[in-house]
Amino acid sequence: MTASSALVLVVEDDPAIQNFLKASLSTQGYRIIQAGLGKEGLALAASHVPDLVVLDLGLPDIDGLAFIAGLRAWSPAPIVVVSARGREQEKVAALDAGADDFLTKPFGVGELLARLRAALRRAVAAPSDGGEAGRYEVGDLSVDLDLRRVTLSGSELHLTPIEYRLLGVLVRNPGKVLTHNFLLKAVWGPMNADQTQYLRVYMANLRRKIERDPARPRYLLTELGVGYRLVSE
Ligand code: CA
Repeated sequence: MTASSALVLVVEDDPAIQNFLKASLSTQGYRIIQAGLGKEGLALAASHVPDLVVLDLGLPDIDGLAFIAGLRAWSPAPIVVVSARGREQEKVAALDAGADDFLTKPFGVGELLARLRAALRRAVAAPSDGGEAGRYEVGDLSVDLDLRRVTLSGSELHLTPIEYRLLGVLVRNPGKVLTHNFLLKAVWGPMNADQTQYLRVYMANLRRKIERDPARPRYLLTELGVGYRLVSE
């Protein structure tokens, strides 16, 4: 399956955004099925088994989180949610419920297509088979988790064990926004208090090592109020 022949289910009740999505995706060769209601979307997913779902969180019939739970009960297809600016809690809840990424309205076609490509690439590269999942090469930054080697423009970087574990989680999820909760659990295990501040300090340290200009990061992006993303291209 090439990325562009993928079947995309769009669940969105706003006709203007539906049309925008349909036009943007069909010119790239994606096949599209559309639903304006959550229940209709779940039924279409069951009958057509899409490769990817674009989901508006504000649907007239069921809650977007209920849609995610309903789909995740049987399907691993990536879910990219569409949400309004300023609804960070909603995005975090959707990501923690099993969504893969989010787009903030209004979004451009370039951003949309990049997110879908990244989500489809991750879905195709089965994370359990190791190999590719442990290597990252974007721009001047190169990470090989098997060799435990991180280089920037060919110069080896020296990371602390926690910085290395954080980077490892990010490298295994290229292009994906990872919530604070997800990162805290993945690196430190179950936490009983809000340790987001703690995470911020480690991320700042990691950024000082892997970024040429930590104030304007090229690789490790902050998603305000949500989490972090390691760019995939
Ligand atoms: Ca809506």
